[in-house]
Amino acid sequence: MSRKLTRSNQHFSQAIKRLPLGVSSNFRYWGKDKTIYVDRAQGSRLWDLDGNEYIDYRMGYGPAILGYADPRVDAAAAEGMKTGGVFALATELEYTLAQRISSMVPAAELVRFSNSGTEAVMTALRLARAYTGKDSHIIVEGGYHGLHDQVLWYADIKNWKPGGEDPAIRADSEGVPEVLNRLTYFTPLNDANHLEDLLRRHGAKIGAFLIEPIMGNCCSITATRQYLRDAQALCEKYDVIMIVDEVKTGFRVAKGGVQELMGFKADLCTFAKAMGNGYPISALAGRTDIMRKIGDGVAHGGTYTCHSVALAAANRTLQILDETETLQQIERYGRKLSAGMGEILDNFDIPYSFTGHPSMFGLFFNERAPGNYRDWKTADYAFYNAMAPELHELGILCEPDSREPWFMSAAHGRDDSLERTLEAFARAIATTLRRKDRKAASGSR
Ligand code: PMP
Repeated sequence: MSRKLTRSNQHFSQAIKRLPLGVSSNFRYWGKDKTIYVDRAQGSRLWDLDGNEYIDYRMGYGPAILGYADPRVDAAAAEGMKTGGVFALATELEYTLAQRISSMVPAAELVRFSNSGTEAVMTALRLARAYTGKDSHIIVEGGYHGLHDQVLWYADIKNWKPGGEDPAIRADSEGVPEVLNRLTYFTPLNDANHLEDLLRRHGAKIGAFLIEPIMGNCCSITATRQYLRDAQALCEKYDVIMIVDEVKTGFRVAKGGVQELMGFKADLCTFAKAMGNGYPISALAGRTDIMRKIGDGVAHGGTYTCHSVALAAANRTLQILDETETLQQIERYGRKLSAGMGEILDNFDIPYSFTGHPSMFGLFFNERAPGNYRDWKTADYAFYNAMAPELHELGILCEPDSREPWFMSAAHGRDDSLERTLEAFARAIATTLRRKDRKAASGSR
């Protein structure tokens, strides 16, 4: 191993004394000798406290669509600070940004801003409950929709037996009120019969169907157009609001997000991440008749909504994404990268498939791409889990968990990321195979 994490480890031993797990988000803790602390990031690159340089494919879980510290966005943000921050009053720029979003996303008839994806989804669910008068909601198995209690539930696929009953539903955290379990139903992606059955039995209680058509927290597993059409028809039939969570796909997979890509319109949709290139801002948008409930019975707001810095950054980011060919460039880079990785895997005779969209693809070690989270069990994710740390050693940063897609930015195509990533990928695969063979040999002795 050539990479040293001496300073990061030293810092961890200090940080743990004041910060639970030594970090400010549980996902950032990778183990006491593996947690990375950032010195700085620029473009496609990130440097840790030890000076290790990484080509980053996490990009903060998606936000840095133009690359880290994009000078155009940062200049707009600095200008935004001159406006003064937050005032407990509105500014003109909110309308300008809402207009931009409306023109890019036809479903976004009205828009409300917040600071994070969590807040946007939380409000979307509240709004759907208020509009339909029904308190329960459906989540797609494998979906992640933020850190609020209504969605902090998961379908336990790891302990589920294929062909058996539906997976058990468990709380994703202690402290989530057990009573909320009764409000939460799960359905596997791309199974309209399952959804229909659920709605037939419980439709009178269900007000919202929450879906990421490209599952940004589950290998980028993708809904078929037919499934989306069926789901939409079922939602209409059973008086259920279809909430499309575009926190990861929005302003990334197309200017109009996954809705443009797949040719449909949500009742409500949520955005964050790419819309501000990393500055904290999110949006809830949707049908006028539903959105008008905000202020007419439904509460929404917050001290920090539409901070002038985040607003200015988002306005500039969306202008760039809307008026230039940036998203096509990102897509081209993702295609080249996945094609190169595919060639390498072919040479090693390893079965694989890529899922999702080139700008946020999932790599799956099985030749058949999964249609839902249940299928994910068929992949050799142990191989992925063994490969990811090898890539980190070689300066390629992907999520250690195979369910997180690889995120591209505009900056990756502007430097030598492609060649360096492919070279490292070939080496990481070779090392992982060698280790696997060695383990198998010692196990058989
Ligand atoms: N929805 C989706 C689809 C997400 O991917 C995330 C975050 N990864 C969230 C909601 C929550 O967003 P945030 O972390 O900004 O609260």
